[in-house]
Amino acid sequence: MVTFSTSATTPSPDEVLIPGESFKPVAEPEAGVLTLLGEIWQGCWQGDSWTIASILRLAWVFPLVALCSWLGIVLSHQSEGVATIWLSNGMIFGLLITQPKRRWLAYFIAGLTADTLADMVYGDSFRIAIGVSLANSIEVITSTLLLTLWFDWPLDLSKRKSLVGFLMVSVLGATALTSALGAWWTLLMVPGPAWWQMFRTWYLGDMLGMAVLAPLVIMVQRPAFFSMFDRRHLSHTLLVLSTTVVVAALVFTHSQDPLIFFMFPAFLLVAFRLGLPGTVVNILLVTLMAIGFTVKGHGPLMLISGEHMLLHRVVIAQIFAAVGIFTMFPVAALLEEKEALKNSLAASEERFRNLAHIDELTGLPNRRAFNLRFESAWVDAFASGEPLAVVIVDADRFKQYNDVVGHLGGDACLRSIAQTIAGIVEETAGTAARIGGEEFAAILPGTTPEQARNIAEKIRVSVIGLALQHPFSPCGVQTVSLGVAALVPQSDQSSINLMRLADEALYVAKSAGRNQVACS
Ligand code: GH3
Ligand code: MG
Ligand code: MG
Repeated sequence: MVTFSTSATTPSPDEVLIPGESFKPVAEPEAGVLTLLGEIWQGCWQGDSWTIASILRLAWVFPLVALCSWLGIVLSHQSEGVATIWLSNGMIFGLLITQPKRRWLAYFIAGLTADTLADMVYGDSFRIAIGVSLANSIEVITSTLLLTLWFDWPLDLSKRKSLVGFLMVSVLGATALTSALGAWWTLLMVPGPAWWQMFRTWYLGDMLGMAVLAPLVIMVQRPAFFSMFDRRHLSHTLLVLSTTVVVAALVFTHSQDPLIFFMFPAFLLVAFRLGLPGTVVNILLVTLMAIGFTVKGHGPLMLISGEHMLLHRVVIAQIFAAVGIFTMFPVAALLEEKEALKNSLAASEERFRNLAHIDELTGLPNRRAFNLRFESAWVDAFASGEPLAVVIVDADRFKQYNDVVGHLGGDACLRSIAQTIAGIVEETAGTAARIGGEEFAAILPGTTPEQARNIAEKIRVSVIGLALQHPFSPCGVQTVSLGVAALVPQSDQSSINLMRLADEALYVAKSAGRNQVACS
């Protein structure tokens, strides 16, 4: 499954449309509603609330919201007064909730003004326009405050809890409040149908707009959203999205049979392949297609006949889209959560596997890792017929060194010796490891006895070069003894044979007075 998480790198609200503005994390106090309102009000007067980038971003709000309001009005005129999908509230909410709280008031005012002006440009009086826009604002305010108070902020829609909260509070709840007040205000100004009919029309359009546009606006501001469009994923993403678009086109242009249920396998395909970001894009495309074709007189909903046919068909198209949203968003979020859990388990397994193979004091591979690598080097050497060498390094009179400098000083000495050995072995194709208290070893594949002796000698001299004072050492500094063995593995031997030879050589080096290399 390929999913594109929006939560993996939980972005900050300052990761905005306009690049270049960095995020400064601010500790968010636990807030009740009054504290939260105080925070928003006071924050908006702080001089440091705004940067050039954030002002430019705010400037974008105006045309975007005005465009959405205008589109909503145009759509409603296309379909005999039914606002099939009302986009501007979702747009304002999505832009606002992704900003720090201190900027919310400015966003709110910009959205309200743009919404009112768009309405007036279309010919409504100021009184109607401001009333309708204020009713729209209630949806934005309620959603913003309740989601912030009840759920984690910044709002992360890829978490099931926040997503379900958003669907319940913003999509179902806040839109109902707005629609009730908006319908009441409009009917107060101009005569129209019964309140409840106007409420239903308003509610379905608002609900769809909020459900489709807010998640899209929130997600496109996260860099992770675009990973499904990067070069590696683009063809896969386009293939999956175009599959559902083709299915939607077939379903909504076929007017003889109600084949609307064919959309659900297509929805599932997107959720499984593209996760929540893909699902949000998909739902937007399918919703627009479903409503567009229905309004233009095509598709399965043409089978609905009787009085107020168009209204009835559009309402069913809206309900279809809403059911799609309420089904697929939680499914996509659940899949994304599972994917995130799987990734974090894999990462922690990898971390623990590494820890189990690393020596804590020196950072070198430990005895367990050494055994595994030595065994595999042995198998490779046997297969290739190349020689395999091993060098065992043991610190001389280390007990006495510890006695003089203390255990911590001894640890530091072991780290220095480890670095020295690792530095030299790094230049070969070999591996250095700490295999005991003050014992190290190097596995040297493809190395002859002569080459191995030279490497061991280099280690010996380099350790002396560390000049770690050791009063009980004949040469005054810490030294090491080294045992070297190399052979081409034969079928009647095992890796233990080679290790034993190196160990015996080390014993010879120790017996001969230490600070020297002995070969088997
Ligand atoms: P030889 O030259 O014969 O190898 O003498 P030695 O004193 O080095 O050998 P011995 O095996 O008697 O002592 C090893 C010492 O290494 C004992 C132990 O205190 C010390 N040692 C082992 N591991 C550590 C460690 O992690 N840190 C420190 N500081 N000392 C360690
Ligand atoms: Mg030892
Ligand atoms: Mg020793």
